[in-house]
Amino acid sequence: MENGKKTPVRMCVVCRGRFPQKNLYRMQCKNFSLIPFEGKGRSFYICDKCKNSKKVFSVVAYLCKISKEKAKEEIKNFPFFNLH
Ligand SMILES: [Zn+2]
Repeated sequence: MENGKKTPVRMCVVCRGRFPQKNLYRMQCKNFSLIPFEGKGRSFYICDKCKNSKKVFSVVAYLCKISKEKAKEEIKNFPFFNLH
């Protein structure tokens, strides 16, 4: 077994696939809004493929305790380009 540098791997909450952390979007819910991870509190990861999937709405709705409609809005307004 090699003990060298390992790329941190995290799980996408939508598809449960495992990806290098740098390829995932890290976000969190705050006051029923979706925001980029601030460095503290609970966060979760979403992969590039899932951010455009329909399944992401129900997962985010569940995680943020908001309606699916609101989750759609939140994801639409989420600054994905700002992450990584
Ligand atoms: Zn995914």
